[in-house]
Amino acid sequence: MDPDFNDGAIDRRASMIPDSDALLKRAWSSNPVTPMASATAGAVGVYTAVQPSDYRCPSLDRKVASVATFWRLAHPEYRSDYKHSYINGSLEHPFALPGVCCDVCGATWGGSRILAQECPPKFPQHKNLRDRWPISRTDHAKLQRELMTALGTKGVPFVDLRPGDDFQPCFLDVPSRPRADFLWSGLGSFVVTDRVRDLLLRMAVNDIPVCPVTLRKIGKRKAKLPPPMPSTGEPEDIINEVPLLDDPSTVGSYSEVVVLHESGFPPGGTPISVCSGCRRPEIGRNREFRMTAEMWNGQSIFFMATTLYVIVTDGLKQAIESLRPTNIIFKPV
Ligand SMILES: [Zn+2]
Repeated sequence: MDPDFNDGAIDRRASMIPDSDALLKRAWSSNPVTPMASATAGAVGVYTAVQPSDYRCPSLDRKVASVATFWRLAHPEYRSDYKHSYINGSLEHPFALPGVCCDVCGATWGGSRILAQECPPKFPQHKNLRDRWPISRTDHAKLQRELMTALGTKGVPFVDLRPGDDFQPCFLDVPSRPRADFLWSGLGSFVVTDRVRDLLLRMAVNDIPVCPVTLRKIGKRKAKLPPPMPSTGEPEDIINEVPLLDDPSTVGSYSEVVVLHESGFPPGGTPISVCSGCRRPEIGRNREFRMTAEMWNGQSIFFMATTLYVIVTDGLKQAIESLRPTNIIFKPV
């Protein structure tokens, strides 16, 4: 089997319970584990009850604390960036908010957030949404207000919209013929087959809008074949040098999953400061990429705050695994 493509096989090392959880479960092994209703409809957190003595905290004498287990959705390790590009391709959102040159903090920046909203009519012709070239903070705020009016929403510039936000629609180019259930074709979202989409909507309908993906350039060859080396040497150029399907719709349909929510800040990740102009947070260097129960806001799928890590509860992980999906692993966080 091609180790770059876990065709139905879940990464067994990644599926192991983290040490801390294993210890808690052993400590409580003779007692019942009580599933509790989640705060969010459709969420499926699995809880392990922990005896008060495990926390050595007398004030918890008559209480039962709960500890949820979380996992990061990720792609398998590939042998090369060429293989990554060959299997997953790239997802383009042609219309996006430009970057900002902030006169308050001096930073020029744009984020990677994906929005589920369509770019409002007339704005696809707007120069700033097509070329994304950074503009001043005052021009950015003006553009955001115009967009929010067109979207029919009332919001605060740099909070409800942000520099770099991508609108729908989206277009997928993949140099090989996609078969996998998960495609990791861009930052800030992921792409799934209909069966995974349906499961996610069943389990987490309030947490993830899904958006249609237009298959644009799709290769003819199998994803398991070795990727060709493009003449430029750049992985993203493989698409320009492979035979393409005449009719990409024969591949089947894919959807983009947009993750709406975030956890609380990870340990060491609370911003040191937030710019009063562009709302850019300054993150310290001691941030740990670790999910704790205290960070959880009740959703079954969400981003770890300040990162692009997509996190799922143990219950949602198990539901996804029941499909024996391809091109995904679960990493403990
Ligand atoms: Zn700023």
